[in-house]
Amino acid sequence: MASGRVDLDGNPIKPITICMIGAGGFIGSHLCDKLMNETPHKVLAVDVYNDKIKHLLEPSGSGELPWADRIQFHRLNIKNDSRLEGLIKMADITINLAAICTPADYNTRPLDTIYSNFIDALPVVKYCSENGKRLIHFSTCEVYGKTIGCFLPKDSPLRQDPAYYVLKEDASPCIFGSIEKQRWSYACAKQLVERLIYAEGAENGLEFTIVRPFNWIGPRMDFIPGIDGPSEGVPRVLACFSNNLLRREPLKLVDGGQSQRTFVYIKDAIEAVLLMIENPARANSQIFNVGNPNNEVTVRQLAEMMTQVYSKVSGESSLETPTIDVSSKEFYGEGYDDSDKRIPDMTIINRQLGWNPKTSLWDLLESTLTYQHRTYAEAIKKAISKPVAS
Ligand code: NAD
Ligand code: UDP
Repeated sequence: MASGRVDLDGNPIKPITICMIGAGGFIGSHLCDKLMNETPHKVLAVDVYNDKIKHLLEPSGSGELPWADRIQFHRLNIKNDSRLEGLIKMADITINLAAICTPADYNTRPLDTIYSNFIDALPVVKYCSENGKRLIHFSTCEVYGKTIGCFLPKDSPLRQDPAYYVLKEDASPCIFGSIEKQRWSYACAKQLVERLIYAEGAENGLEFTIVRPFNWIGPRMDFIPGIDGPSEGVPRVLACFSNNLLRREPLKLVDGGQSQRTFVYIKDAIEAVLLMIENPARANSQIFNVGNPNNEVTVRQLAEMMTQVYSKVSGESSLETPTIDVSSKEFYGEGYDDSDKRIPDMTIINRQLGWNPKTSLWDLLESTLTYQHRTYAEAIKKAISKPVAS
């Protein structure tokens, strides 16, 4: 752990205590890694699960972990646990990552999605505001919804104009589909929490930062169905495609895989979050896009690249039919809809925190798929070779 660390304005960084809600998830686990390995800060890690941070909580051999006195795990569900306010009071800052945030749930479990992303976030905002504590709240790039450009005629030259598709925190509108397109239950819930936090800032002086992640991906994201998650579960695209590659099945392209995404490496994105934590004067009252505008692909291109990278890291040949098309209704059910394109404008995060993503899509897929292969290939082989019970 480095000592004598300074913030972006050259001031010494004092050790703080962070209440991290959702610390056991994908982003939380990487943030905990970073905080334990590179900073002197303490973490009160709140989640219902801790599998992804076990390596930080329990020594693998004899002897204590070097950060043993700086991380405490609190297994609790924020829906119904009176200990939450006490933990927020004990900390200098709260980071709220807790959410249902897999698209397969938005249209099939809309009530759980809305409760998790809106109702369950309310006490966290309230306790931070009432106790004068800083809050970093994780929202989503999905609050932008669809781009203006997608409503233009297919052959309109304006579709090439960034003004019609680049997403800016302080200028772009939030464009969702109709109510029966329940996909947007998540985005709408997240948007209302953003508005609430913003209003708490304006009316009651809450010190807040809102983060809009644009497809952060990397090791430990979601689960591999049938291995460390339910067989019928549908995780986000990285884990879906990893699962297909591990099982040597064609990758499923929803509605032709024409939607576009920009993917950022989790380790780059975590650097941005650490800058927010340690530079309150620059991060307070801001909404930040955090993504990598240089890593844009269609989902079809992502599938092709993942197939090539996986061949390289596993030494296995690619399938003769590497992808198949499926309809969104078949894959996700009624009420699915999609964001067409997501390019983050980086002006604000550049200006406030001087942050830029570094890792190319190929490189981030190489390290992530190496991890997926190392972690899951054997387990998948065993699962496939098991005789089916008659
Ligand atoms: P994740 O599902 O891996 O992590 C969320 C964690 O919150 C899980 O460990 C879960 O157990 C915990 N949690 C949920 N409800 C809880 C409750 N009631 N009480 C206690 N713990 C609870 O997801 P992630 O990818 O790490 O995302 C974290 C945040 O970032 C979410 O708010 C998500 O909406 C947002 N986000 C992430 C991405 C991305 O690219 N990964 C994109 C957009 C938004
Ligand atoms: N998708 C796909 N095949 C899959 C999983 C996802 O084609 O097996 C598509 C999905 O329809 C969307 C994109 O991949 O267009 C990204 O999906 P993800 O679940 O990662 O979340 P999103 O970026 O939509 O929030």
